[in-house]
Amino acid sequence: MMGRYDRQMRFEPFGESGQRALREANIFVLGAGALGSASAEMLVRAGVGRLTIVDRDVLEWTNLHRQQLYTESDVERQLPKAAAAHERLTAINRDVTIEHHVVDITSENILSLVEGHTAVLDATDNLETRLLANDACLQLGIPFFMGACVGSYGMTFPIGLREEEPCLHCLLETLPPEAATCDTVGVISPIVVTVAAWQTAQLLRYLAGETWQPTLQSTNLWTDEHASIRVTSLKKESCPSCSNEPVYPFLRAVHETEASVLCGRETVQLRLPLQRAIDLQTFASIFERAGSTPVVNQHLVSGHWNDYRIVFFKDGRILVHGTNDPKKARSLVASMTG
Ligand SMILES: [Zn+2]
Repeated sequence: MMGRYDRQMRFEPFGESGQRALREANIFVLGAGALGSASAEMLVRAGVGRLTIVDRDVLEWTNLHRQQLYTESDVERQLPKAAAAHERLTAINRDVTIEHHVVDITSENILSLVEGHTAVLDATDNLETRLLANDACLQLGIPFFMGACVGSYGMTFPIGLREEEPCLHCLLETLPPEAATCDTVGVISPIVVTVAAWQTAQLLRYLAGETWQPTLQSTNLWTDEHASIRVTSLKKESCPSCSNEPVYPFLRAVHETEASVLCGRETVQLRLPLQRAIDLQTFASIFERAGSTPVVNQHLVSGHWNDYRIVFFKDGRILVHGTNDPKKARSLVASMTG
């Protein structure tokens, strides 16, 4: 089946040896939203050997304009993004071994999820998870291809390729503040594809064995501003994440397990106590008795309750859409679960 990669192998800097390295690689895609869709599709088409994709969310209509792996039917079926991605990616290239997890990445699970992968591709939508991944990758010695975008602006920087380069933690003060999210100021799809293209190209270069001095790339597709900046001087000797005596502070942070507000999303995430696994059919009947028509699939049940959309996942997570108030979210769920 190597014939399908002929045009890629003809590209000399990549060649047959790059193709073999890609075939042997096991890539972790952190997030199955816009960036994750685009880069996972490129990697699977290019012939990556194995790919793991992880995401905590369910597909919504507002995702379709930029999350290129998904269809209207996926939204109607209320599929978790990671599961829908798995289905679509397998249809694109059946030779790739794909694994997906519908979970929230936390300090408790990230090391075991990421361990054993060749590289991590950043496709998350928030700084908290990015910093967690930065620490996890540094501790495990795995390169982390950072990428982020909002509006018409995006940036990338590969972390962990060269010891003298800074990590994400070193760069924190230099990066633009993360007050803006896709849900508050919006995003256009060309910047997603641009950032994903940079990240994927960097990953292919790395796998092909190339060494180079990475730069912090940033661009604004609406204003034609572009920068490619050497950031070696921003490496902090005392960085708690990448110095000689690292403590990986974000891996030690205690995860807020009870309730967390998903930034800019009008959504609160809750967890049932661990001993209570969620029986999806039970919740489907509760929705039905309240006059709502829930969508149930093998991963979750989603329905309306007092004008709020509530999604129960098998693993005990609950998303309450339409509020930023954890108290309100808790009382809504309590009114359902008793
Ligand atoms: Zn650092």
